[in-house]
Amino acid sequence: MSVVTKIAEIRSEIKQLEKKYDRVEGSVKLIAVSKTKSVARIREAYHAGQKYFAENYVQEIFEKYYELTDIDIEWHFIGPIQSNKTKKIAELVHWVHSIDRIKTAKRLSDQRPHDLPDLNICLQVNVNAEATKAGFSCAEVLSAATEIMRFPRLCLRGLMAIPERTEDIDLQRKSFSILRELKNAVQSQLGVELDTLSMGMSSDIEAAIAEGASMVRIGTGIFGARDYEKF
Ligand SMILES: *Cc1c(COP(=O)(O)O)cnc(C)c1O
Repeated sequence: MSVVTKIAEIRSEIKQLEKKYDRVEGSVKLIAVSKTKSVARIREAYHAGQKYFAENYVQEIFEKYYELTDIDIEWHFIGPIQSNKTKKIAELVHWVHSIDRIKTAKRLSDQRPHDLPDLNICLQVNVNAEATKAGFSCAEVLSAATEIMRFPRLCLRGLMAIPERTEDIDLQRKSFSILRELKNAVQSQLGVELDTLSMGMSSDIEAAIAEGASMVRIGTGIFGARDYEKF
């Protein structure tokens, strides 16, 4: 099936899920995760009306960025960031969902070019306390948010999570509800307005929307299985 058809399908699925779970129509933003996919596929998606794209490898987002400067993509970075890669990220992207260390946040703020708007960020939270996963622990989120809000060139928009994989929608919802409640806690205790819950991928989109996702990050659901040999 073509990328154009898949995007239309996902958009209609999102609309149905917004209805089903009493979400405001249009309140869930679709982020197309284009990792391992060619710039030709990204262009196809773009011409089908998709403006937001996400990548999780630093080298890959740079290469694609420079090949796609003729179209008006909003780039989201959703992967691990080593300290020596922050400068390029600070220069090129609109959003970083995967802030998992204060030090990284500080560097991104220091390196954000003066002529660009503040960098939108989410704190990544390891909601199921998995040993193999990045992210602040639930207990660290409030203090991390407090520190990161002081960095002048960052705009803290919300929280992001990649929960433990499971087919059980009730367990999926439980994980997402932890993130939602954490966001509420940050808002009320720090007196800030956060508008973003970045949660939900191809296999758990319904649970995420049910629990209040404002951004879903969809890769295989749009582009099909990934081509890892490419990058
Ligand atoms: C790859 C990736 C996605 C997309 O996953 P799919 O299951 O292909 O939809 C979403 N978020 C992050 C952080 C990813 O790395």
